[in-house]
Amino acid sequence: MYNIIFFGPPGAGKGTQAKIISQYLNISHLSTGDILRKKLLDDDDLALELKKIMSSGNLVSDEILNSIVSSRLINESNKGFILDGYPRTLKQSEFLNKFLLDSSNEINYIFNIHINFEILRDRILKRSKEESRDDDNIDVIETRYKEYINSTQKVSNFYKDRNPELFYELDGSLQIEEITKKIKEILE
Ligand code: AMP
Repeated sequence: MYNIIFFGPPGAGKGTQAKIISQYLNISHLSTGDILRKKLLDDDDLALELKKIMSSGNLVSDEILNSIVSSRLINESNKGFILDGYPRTLKQSEFLNKFLLDSSNEINYIFNIHINFEILRDRILKRSKEESRDDDNIDVIETRYKEYINSTQKVSNFYKDRNPELFYELDGSLQIEEITKKIKEILE
């Protein structure tokens, strides 16, 4: 069974690789960003609150994220899954660890895609034109990157220290196909 986490700053290519690898392994791709963006389409108070937080580049509350992820993972536990964009805080990683332990499940691969700020800024600006995401603009990119440095990097470092045997570093400045090839080699 493949239970995989992808880490990396916004624009590193996590979503692209997670999608390719989930199709390759025929397992679910749980992108919390995509799930939240779908919720923005609802005409309710939660959607309004989420829109405010996400368009500013800040993180949505741990409670909302933990509840979204646990409700999805319950259905995935015997097939395997890829987490893309979660856990992003230490609270989320604690929740995930406990959730997996309680369901006698565990993460077995962690991929950390790193890339420098200049490359990802250019990529995000390009994506903003293609996907018209209102959190992909120059004002918000810095906030999203800071959230990554201040919160999420602590989470990936935590996993790296605790589970070095599961943890693989990837160079996000390589071509998409090259990164995919490296991931497939690791999974074999
Ligand atoms: P992404 O598409 O993964 O870059 O996520 C887009 C936005 O959704 C982020 O900037 C956050 O506002 C929100 N988001 C996605 N995943 C999480 C998470 N695990 N924790 C908190 N906020 C999240």
